[in-house]
Amino acid sequence: MNHKIVLASNNAGKLAELSQMLTPLGFELHTQSEFGVPEADEPFGTFIENALAKARHASRLTGLPALADDSGICASALGGEPGVHSARYAGEPKSDARNNEKLVASLASHEDKSANYYCVLVYVRHAADPQPLIADGSWKGEVIAAPRGQGGFGYDPHFWLPQQQCTAAELSSDEKNRRSHRGQALVAMVEKLRSSLV
Ligand code: IMP
Repeated sequence: MNHKIVLASNNAGKLAELSQMLTPLGFELHTQSEFGVPEADEPFGTFIENALAKARHASRLTGLPALADDSGICASALGGEPGVHSARYAGEPKSDARNNEKLVASLASHEDKSANYYCVLVYVRHAADPQPLIADGSWKGEVIAAPRGQGGFGYDPHFWLPQQQCTAAELSSDEKNRRSHRGQALVAMVEKLRSSLV
């Protein structure tokens, strides 16, 4: 039996990654743009609140169960900033280069360069679902001043992994998916969805 789900995102990469893991379980993923759903506001200070708002919004407008994610990078010395502001840390227009420049500058006077990527996934069966499924993942690293590597996106060239002795941008996409905050959250969510079916 196929369970149709709307993904509260228009990102083709996310759709492919999620579909790969959810199709074998009998889920059929569709982006919200297929239903003409406009992007939801993300006004909140925490990832979970924003992901929940996005999932509810997509579910309300389609009448389908919805899956949403929210993610970003949190620097310990900055009290978790950029956090939910990661995508537009350096303001409009959105720029990875300027975001990275601002993060490196903000940490210049701090000895502690530790940071973590964080991702939360939220699944609602319907817009008013009182018990959404929630799964998260966190990936620890350090922010380095000089970029390294060509892979990934966003903050990856500045996200140093002490154990691997490379940045996230130097990992293959398979290895990044296995280790990353998003990969961890996805594995946990798949497990929750699998249990919810039995
Ligand atoms: P979103 O949750 O896809 O909107 O991502 C928010 C922002 O967090 C992105 O625009 C990036 O700046 C940052 N981010 C989230 N995940 C990653 C990652 O895996 N690598 C690099 N940057 C990331």
